[in-house]
Amino acid sequence: MTSASRTVSRLTLLGLPGSGKGTYGSLLASHLSVPILTASAIMSSKMTPELREVTKKGNLVPDAWIGGVMKDAVLSLGHGNGEEEEEGGVAGDASPRLEPAYILDGYPRTEGQAMQCLDDWEERIRTQLAVFIDVPKEVVLAKLSGRLVCVECGRGYNDVAVDEGGFDMPAMLPSNGSRSRCECGGCLRRRDDDTDAGVVEERLRVYEKQTKPVIDLFAERGKLYTFTPYRGVADIEKMYKFE
Ligand SMILES: [Zn+2]
Repeated sequence: MTSASRTVSRLTLLGLPGSGKGTYGSLLASHLSVPILTASAIMSSKMTPELREVTKKGNLVPDAWIGGVMKDAVLSLGHGNGEEEEEGGVAGDASPRLEPAYILDGYPRTEGQAMQCLDDWEERIRTQLAVFIDVPKEVVLAKLSGRLVCVECGRGYNDVAVDEGGFDMPAMLPSNGSRSRCECGGCLRRRDDDTDAGVVEERLRVYEKQTKPVIDLFAERGKLYTFTPYRGVADIEKMYKFE
């Protein structure tokens, strides 16, 4: 009976670029012991030369193709989770599950895609809940401007502290307190696309236009859980409250 309360195991993450989706997503994934499916990585591994041309010209890959690729990725999670495959089977993954469990990151991005994973996919793999990381644009812009990445190990930091609109997010610097050196000794760089204000504004504009309807659709279905990380990662326990 107690385990019956924990029925949500197929989720997607929504939030502005720069809202911390990656960070909160990986915490949620370990909390639930489910894998994250990152749409950009899955899509680029499946890209055909024709589709690459399409994106090179700045056009979007068709929803139908994206939906198919993501559905395949979800279905492949089910493999090796069956009862027959045990000791000799796929190693490393947590407890055996009968149904695919996942957290999607970067999908669905459009209303059309949302309808795929909510309605078109067979019921046992359908997305049950969207967790919306609710960080407003001003906060995202401030945080993006502070983003630092280690060129050696890829670890991320942030040298901007945000204190506005109820948000209180401290800067995240390496333990050595440096803004230029990672804990591993590597150099810290700002990402080019974070510092170019025009590019950032454009990314946020695209998001508003495409992803807002996705949020609205999940809300209409009663499948939206909003998490507002006022204190950043310190608020993470609130994110798990949908269970
Ligand atoms: Zn490093």
